[in-house]
Amino acid sequence: MTTIHHLNCGTLRVSGYPTVVCHCLLLEDSDRLALVDTGIGLHDVRDPDGRLGRQLIDLAGFQFHEPDTAVRRIEALGRSPGAVQHVVLTHADPDHAGGLADFPKAQVHLSEEERASVSSGHWRYVPAQFAHGPDWKTYGPSTRSWFGLEARPLALGFSSEVLLIPLFGHTLGHCGVAVRQGERWLLHVGDAYYLRAELAMDDHPVSQMAAQRADDDAARRASLDALRRLVRDHSDEVELIGYHDLSELPAGYPLPDGS
Ligand SMILES: [Zn+2]
Repeated sequence: MTTIHHLNCGTLRVSGYPTVVCHCLLLEDSDRLALVDTGIGLHDVRDPDGRLGRQLIDLAGFQFHEPDTAVRRIEALGRSPGAVQHVVLTHADPDHAGGLADFPKAQVHLSEEERASVSSGHWRYVPAQFAHGPDWKTYGPSTRSWFGLEARPLALGFSSEVLLIPLFGHTLGHCGVAVRQGERWLLHVGDAYYLRAELAMDDHPVSQMAAQRADDDAARRASLDALRRLVRDHSDEVELIGYHDLSELPAGYPLPDGS
């Protein structure tokens, strides 16, 4: 069975909001690794203004701390970053794609809708994060159903099945990533919610920011409703985690300073 490691690969602080993290997954299968989202990368840390620009840094509250990058987190686990053969992106926003260039040989798996949005030159993405020429592998619409949601099986060759689950709205091709763990599944929902509390309430203070940052807010709300149904009907089979809520890091995981 594929082992799942949880890594915090970055911190974001915006005044008036809780500190949030970049909760990536490292999937380990024999000696092969796959990273789900990549956090803030080495290039971002070494040249923040040149890569991201001051306006974005201030807007999103990026914090730069090299030990938090995926490369350093993987090394700290005693694994080799060179063993990362695959990167799976929930979407290509700059706080998710920052580490992509640190794994230049990895195949990068994402929805074809997200890839198209990146290629279109959409303002929300940072072209410098893709300048190394990622080895993209895209996945289009599928007839496979997973707890009533569309599922696109990923070609990782791992012993546990890994699925891309379209949860569009935050971006046009935003997806969750489901990883089978025996009889159960872990679903990484990416940014389908920022904070877990949004599952329980529509008027959460962060919902306004989520609506503003969504490429298609009606789709974003439909995706959130799909997750609510999943929690209501299948919580014994599926565990959800999001990318930004620090309370969803494993118990005992070191939290960012001051949070
Ligand atoms: Zn994000």
